[in-house]
Amino acid sequence: MAIRKIRIEGDPILRKKSKEIITIDERILQLAQDMIETMRDANGIGLAAPQVGILRRIIVLEGEDSPIIAINPNITYSEGEITDLEGCLSIPGYSGYVKRAEKIIVEYIDENRNTVKREVSGYLARAFMHEIDHLDGILYIDRAEKIYKESEAEEGV
Ligand code: ZN
Repeated sequence: MAIRKIRIEGDPILRKKSKEIITIDERILQLAQDMIETMRDANGIGLAAPQVGILRRIIVLEGEDSPIIAINPNITYSEGEITDLEGCLSIPGYSGYVKRAEKIIVEYIDENRNTVKREVSGYLARAFMHEIDHLDGILYIDRAEKIYKESEAEEGV
């Protein structure tokens, strides 16, 4: 496993659309493991491949009890609306309020090549939507109602 360099806003790769993954080979699984390590090292709860410079449709998330690897994720249903605070490892030092669906159904392929369909809500639903946005070159600041610069004193929480 290896920690990869996280791309920061302003890097054009963050604005590109990622490609569907056709073959889940060792390279993709290695990338997923590196992404989990990189996410944890940065104290994040989610990371999308373009954030480490790879334009492929794969995201990782910190699940309730174990990390989630989601390949070619798609939101097939969404319900409700909730505004909450969001941040991004590619936009350090800032956070903003973003309105998103409250509950979603997401479909993806996991690391065992199984198709998974699950209903998620709360922080995990928000994290899925945030990370899937990255695969389409969308950043939360495009959707945010208000963006705040976190003061030095508030950092490290
Ligand atoms: Zn992000």
